[in-house]
Amino acid sequence: MKESLSYPHVMQSLNLGFTQIKNRVLMGSMHTGLEEEKNGMKKLAAFYAARAKGGVGLIVTGGIAPNRAGWVQPFASRMSTKKHAEKHKQITRKVHEEGGKICMQILHTGRYGFHPFIVAPSAIKSPISPFRPKALSAKGINKTIDDFVNTAVLAQSAGYDGVEIMGSEGYLINQFISLHTNKRTDEWGGNYQNRIRFALEIVEKTRRATGTDFIIIYRLSMLDLINDGSTKEEVLELAQKIEKAGASLINTGIGWHESRVPTIASMVPRAMFAWVTEKFRKHVKIPLITTNRINNLQTAEKIIESGKADMVSMARPFLADAELISKSVIGQENEVNTCIACNQACLDQVFQRKRATCLVNPQACYEMELIPNTVIKPKKIAVAGAGMAGLSFAVNAAGRGHHVTVFEKSNCIGGQFNLAAKIPGKEEFKETIRYFNQMIKILNIRLKLNTEATFETLKPFDEVVISSGVTPRPVSISGIENKKVITYPELISGEKKAGKKAVVIGAGGIGFDVAEFLINEHNSNSPIDNFISEWNIDKTLETPGGLLGDPFKPIEAAREVILLKRSKGKFGKDLGKTTGWIHRATLKKAGVSMIHSVTYKEIDKQGIHIEVNGKSQFIEADSIIICAGQVSVNRLFNECKDRGISVHLIGGAKNATQLDAKTAIREGTELGLKI
Ligand code: SF4
Repeated sequence: MKESLSYPHVMQSLNLGFTQIKNRVLMGSMHTGLEEEKNGMKKLAAFYAARAKGGVGLIVTGGIAPNRAGWVQPFASRMSTKKHAEKHKQITRKVHEEGGKICMQILHTGRYGFHPFIVAPSAIKSPISPFRPKALSAKGINKTIDDFVNTAVLAQSAGYDGVEIMGSEGYLINQFISLHTNKRTDEWGGNYQNRIRFALEIVEKTRRATGTDFIIIYRLSMLDLINDGSTKEEVLELAQKIEKAGASLINTGIGWHESRVPTIASMVPRAMFAWVTEKFRKHVKIPLITTNRINNLQTAEKIIESGKADMVSMARPFLADAELISKSVIGQENEVNTCIACNQACLDQVFQRKRATCLVNPQACYEMELIPNTVIKPKKIAVAGAGMAGLSFAVNAAGRGHHVTVFEKSNCIGGQFNLAAKIPGKEEFKETIRYFNQMIKILNIRLKLNTEATFETLKPFDEVVISSGVTPRPVSISGIENKKVITYPELISGEKKAGKKAVVIGAGGIGFDVAEFLINEHNSNSPIDNFISEWNIDKTLETPGGLLGDPFKPIEAAREVILLKRSKGKFGKDLGKTTGWIHRATLKKAGVSMIHSVTYKEIDKQGIHIEVNGKSQFIEADSIIICAGQVSVNRLFNECKDRGISVHLIGGAKNATQLDAKTAIREGTELGLKI
């Protein structure tokens, strides 16, 4: 534990005695989309206040631009006038009322901006924006530094306890630091001292303008994961100079947005990058914060106890559960609704310019809209099916005071999540099942396992909810009864095993999951060293950028896999916006062949006969896995309705065309909050 800190007053003002674990965990920056919504600031205030009430000591807001050029997208939030600052006062007031502290992140996107006014150190287009940036003039650079400082001063006037200066993830400051994006020949480019000048001047001038009693967090890219990124020595030099320039805390940045290595998705092992922060911790006096794929307090505690970092930052886990801290510190970890790192309702939505929320907690960012009011007249409610839709309904309805009974025909709750949790890289899904099991106990929900609901069992209830889920769609191909044909539940549950050469029929989300299951069968734990070797990361950090070579290098697969689909075009185009590329890359690395526009002709003892664009082909295979979609199981709904029972239909039982946990949980939650 660090004894001598450069900014002890900051620790004081943060109330970070460093004696309690909860004071060593901060809520990291995350854009929610509320920043740009009409009346969004009020909702944002409620969102952050709920987290402060739930025990978060220090919150960092989503990124706010210091000027127009720094916008993420047209008309994105920025703070450059008193009028802008005024709107933020409701956020800081609400958080302070709940006993929390809050810093505002200042983010200039540079060449990552999605609009025509973008600027950068050099006019080099990024691979993730269609716009080419204008190279900043020397005057423009000085003006941009002033804009950062002006924004920090305005943030202070709005009541923020500090700012986080976003210097990582490949945004403007990072673009100055790296040779990859900085080709200047003036005093802002060339050697390393020149390239870090922009970052240092921003921190120095911000400290001077805001005084000593103001938190300055600098987010420093410790592992760029791009070619021509920083070396270990350069990162160390920057960290020491940032400390000297007046930062109170240094946060860890991992990977540029254009990097081809996953850094936060579910297949990244927990606490994967804490070793990076550890490399620099001894050499800097101010506290170092580590981040990325840390989703519970136990993991945070282990990191701190083992000396890898002084503090831990988590962002998405606080969307999943606003009370993560308050529940964990009193030993109720089993009640925490854990972030499963799916990105489906948070980042994927933000990248589609929609409001973020959370797949496992649809109330996140909807604190003022989805309100759990206690019921005056509790009802007796039956739920048929304990998958995600039924469970989220049951927990929300019972939480409001209804008497809920859940019927489940299998011997466990969780439905399709039980299969998902067996896919390598999706092990976190079991946390959601653990959470629901615990809530069933706490809320006295009557759970009847191994009991298929019938009209007779449902009849005595005031209300009935049908959430009986889906079953695999029957496929009619000649020879489908051949014993080499396996359904995806049979394969994933372990009921049947695949041979050395497997064909997967269907390339939707389940087809991709099954292909990953097949190639990874013996490597399901995704330990840190496997991940480092798989994605070609340099653990010594000596190589500029920290990559030993192409992250898409081939990996050894457990078997040969061929993925087939009937439709034309790109594989995996409906996968998550921020994770689809990882699934496609993983299959490519493992040598999975993909064929589209397929007509299935016949399965025989040797394999499968298909036709592609009118040409016949034969694929030899030991196993053929059917992932051709699902159909709803909802016979009981019509029966109940026809016989006068008040009945509701939710989740896959209502719509099975896309098996979608996000919709299932949202539908269950919404109904549970209004019934
Ligand atoms: Fe975590 Fe998924 Fe929720 Fe995002 S949507 S916060 S990744 S559980």
